[in-house]
Amino acid sequence: MATEEKIIELIGVDKVYDGTAAVENLNLYVRKGEFVTLLGPSGCGKSTTLRMIAGFEMPTKGTILLNGKEITDVPPYERPINTVFQRYALFPHLNVYDNIAYGLKLKRFKNTYEDKDGKKVTKVEKLSKAEIDAKVSRVLKLVDLEEFEKRDVTTLSGGQQQRIAIARAIVNEPEILLLDEPLGALDLKMRKDMQLELKAMHDKLGITFIYVTHDQEEALTMSDTIVVMKDGKIQQIGTPIDIYNEPKNAFVADFIGESNIFSGWIVGDKKVKFIGKVFDCVDDFPLNENVDVVVRPEDVVLTDAGQGDVDGEIISSVFKGVHYEMTFSVGKTEILIQDTVERKVGEKCAVKIAPDSIHIMHRQIDANRFEGYITKKNTVKFADGEFECDVTQLYAGSHLDDEGYLITKEGEKIDLTDVEVNVEVGLRKIEIIDNDEDGDAAGEIVQIVYKGDHYQVTIRTDEEEEDFVVDTEYAWNEHDRVSVKIKPEDIKMTLKAVNK
Ligand code: ADP
Ligand code: MG
Repeated sequence: MATEEKIIELIGVDKVYDGTAAVENLNLYVRKGEFVTLLGPSGCGKSTTLRMIAGFEMPTKGTILLNGKEITDVPPYERPINTVFQRYALFPHLNVYDNIAYGLKLKRFKNTYEDKDGKKVTKVEKLSKAEIDAKVSRVLKLVDLEEFEKRDVTTLSGGQQQRIAIARAIVNEPEILLLDEPLGALDLKMRKDMQLELKAMHDKLGITFIYVTHDQEEALTMSDTIVVMKDGKIQQIGTPIDIYNEPKNAFVADFIGESNIFSGWIVGDKKVKFIGKVFDCVDDFPLNENVDVVVRPEDVVLTDAGQGDVDGEIISSVFKGVHYEMTFSVGKTEILIQDTVERKVGEKCAVKIAPDSIHIMHRQIDANRFEGYITKKNTVKFADGEFECDVTQLYAGSHLDDEGYLITKEGEKIDLTDVEVNVEVGLRKIEIIDNDEDGDAAGEIVQIVYKGDHYQVTIRTDEEEEDFVVDTEYAWNEHDRVSVKIKPEDIKMTLKAVNK
């Protein structure tokens, strides 16, 4: 079990490759005996972090401490750390025993004792055959492969080979075991079994595990502490329960388990509006702030039509073993619901969401995103407006013919009328016009936030209440009626995935 003592500490660690940061300003500590998991999508910097702890990579900036002492200049083989990789590089020409004993046979250590005259003598020694035998047997027992000593490693299954790789790493009795997606190459059933075995092994050994995975369920099952990463930065550190119940932002909420994530805004004291309705909530946020609202599927309560907060209809239902997973549709929004009681597809009913089931998070806006569709005139409609755009970006290498049909690179002719698209517009690519007629979509300025060197202005459209968020140097006033204009080349579109 974990103590309070920090065994590893990363302070302000950056790693830059060719001018690009793989990880940025990592601040993190691991307690002695803890099972810590670095969790995040591929490329977020998990392995880079592990390699720096192991000593295979040097941080570009920052410090790494082991038991309170800086280890930046300590080579990997002098760190009391062993690593298990996804690809279990075993020696194919050696049997199980020799694979595990390999490192032990090479091991030299200094032994100091008193000779018969009482003088201190230091000798470099190796482990005896009997000592090596004992250590190998002990770890084989730990990984449940006692009878396998003489087996050729190539005759073992993937799961067994991975267990040998783990045995080989722990036989050196490291203080810290690093595991980089060690179960990634195994099939699902084997992975589930190994997760439990690894957890049990951790408890038995009492050493510190730092584990890397992109699989949230794996992280939730095994860890004492989870470090959620994205784009080289830590998003949240906490226990599995903290991370699941109190995700810090929409990324974490989405990555950990299934969530409904709605765009909302604060309309009063502990009142938030989303899915077209005002809900009471428990979090205090400033008036008019744009927020992400996260509601777990198991926290949405289904009731009869007219009895809940919002009426709608069940549009899908799948039995998942313990509960039903249902989709409830209200206008354009779909809500995922888990309940042990099924409501049938087509049933008109209502949902109820309790204040403490509504998790509100600051929205980190990096671009405006809308759902839209292409018109007959090859313009795009979204957010209560119609905009000139370049439809050829939807198909690489395409062009328009004289009649306005799109011709693909392969020569196929496509009618884009009513095709649904995802639209993205940069925060600085929107021009605000001080009347509601000359632009392409009109609305009211609902919020202005000063961001140090510019203002972030939110314009809410009249009908659909969609928000344009604009970074601008110019000062505006709240409640001004305005409209927006966007250059065609600044409207980035992708085809919406068609799931039929
Ligand atoms: P993860 O393990 O989370 O999938 P990595 O730590 O392997 O992520 O990689 C993080 C980022 O650093 C990626 O963008 C990756 O391409 C980059 N990167 C990793 N190792 C190197 C390297 N040796 N040289 C250049 N870029 C690298
Ligand atoms: Mg990796």
